[in-house]
Amino acid sequence: MKLKLLNTSAGRITKVYAALLLGITLILCAVIMTVVGFRQFQVQRQQTRGIVGGLERSFIANRNDWYWWRLGSPMDTKKSFVRIKVQPSDKKTRYLYSPHAKRFVSQNQLSKTTVITKNVAYSNKLGLYYHASASDASASAQTPNVRYDVWTKLSGVTGLLWLLFRLIIFIVLGFLILGTWLIYLLARKLNQPLVALTKATKSINDDIYNQYQKQLPVPKTPQEVHDLSQGFNQLLQSLNARARADRQFVSNASHELKTPIATIRGHISLIRRRGEQHPEIIPTSLGFIDQESERMQRLVESLLKLSHANQLELSPEAVNLSQLIEDISQRYAAALPQQLITHVQRDVVAWVNFDSVEQIIINLLNNAHKYSASDTVIEIKLEAVGQEVTLSVIDEGNGIPADQKAHIFDRFYRGNNGQTAGGNGLGLSIVKQLVDVNHGTINVMDHSPQGTIFEVTLPRKVAGPE
Ligand code: ADP
Repeated sequence: MKLKLLNTSAGRITKVYAALLLGITLILCAVIMTVVGFRQFQVQRQQTRGIVGGLERSFIANRNDWYWWRLGSPMDTKKSFVRIKVQPSDKKTRYLYSPHAKRFVSQNQLSKTTVITKNVAYSNKLGLYYHASASDASASAQTPNVRYDVWTKLSGVTGLLWLLFRLIIFIVLGFLILGTWLIYLLARKLNQPLVALTKATKSINDDIYNQYQKQLPVPKTPQEVHDLSQGFNQLLQSLNARARADRQFVSNASHELKTPIATIRGHISLIRRRGEQHPEIIPTSLGFIDQESERMQRLVESLLKLSHANQLELSPEAVNLSQLIEDISQRYAAALPQQLITHVQRDVVAWVNFDSVEQIIINLLNNAHKYSASDTVIEIKLEAVGQEVTLSVIDEGNGIPADQKAHIFDRFYRGNNGQTAGGNGLGLSIVKQLVDVNHGTINVMDHSPQGTIFEVTLPRKVAGPE
């Protein structure tokens, strides 16, 4: 659950914000502490050097000088320590110490000291300190050699840095907690439309009876979610149309099958009831049964073709359509009462699936034959233009009324002439599907003065280096 929360957009934005804030603060902290620390260090160094300079200028060589110097000096004897080493040429070396300085020096000698720079050292007992020194070499035998040592504890600097560090951490923590919370709230608000979209999608999914019929709410902002919901609604609409068409198809198919089955069962029961007393009805009934079962067989075959075309895994190849049309016309010319003529450009090669294109031509030829008088002409034309191949089947038959043209590719649609011809209304929908899987187009037009033109375009295979 916790992991899920962190993986949401809001969680991720919050995580990035927290990491960013932490990173910036650490860098800022380092910069501030370096600058402030260095400035403080410079002040302390200046002070220490000032003390040494003051001592040098005063030239302290005995206890009296030292006493007077101390009276005028504002030096903080708890932080700065002075040792003056006086070495007269004839007498013993003497040391003068500021208050606490003696103890500082002895402790320093006893503790473990790490030298950091020439003047800065760290002692485990005294902490960080700065050391400056100067010496007055005697010019004559009367004046002694004097060396001044001044140490200043840098505890003020470290204390300030420590205080700064704690302050920064405190502020950062405050920002981190408050900022993270605010950012999380903001990110959640921004994600709200997406969450609502997900909920709506789930409820559509759960509603199994109304699947695809509902639409998702489309928020005005943010633009991305607005576009996503609109896209989703379009998808739902097309799924809905598809589902409706499928339902329609199943109901049409069962309706079409119901009629021949009812006729067959009717004649069987008629033979059972009356066959013995009136055997003369048997041949007529068997004739009907034969006719109806043949109709059923044709219907089932068409349905199978349709479902096959639907799932056809297209394996395109270079098909010489000129050759194919000549073959088909030779096969069918004798069987058709109409005159079949071809106007075929030579060696037109298309990039299509052979079986499906053969099926397209046969279906269109079959329709041209079905819906034309016997004394008319059926023409097949083939030409290649640019990247396309155009194949036309032209008849001089009844033609298709304008209002029916939009429906002839629908499954089970039969026009006026189709109903009288006893077709099942699946031929052209099979053709349409096969054209689609071959990445082609199909158009229907009137033929002048009478008849219909079916024009199919297919992708051309232009000869080139293999
Ligand atoms: P069927 O021919 O089995 O009825 P189709 O899907 O092949 O089904 O055709 C659908 C309808 O289109 C037909 O019922 C018919 O009205 C019309 N049609 C198809 N081809 C032609 C044509 N060449 N001439 C006139 N009408 C046609």
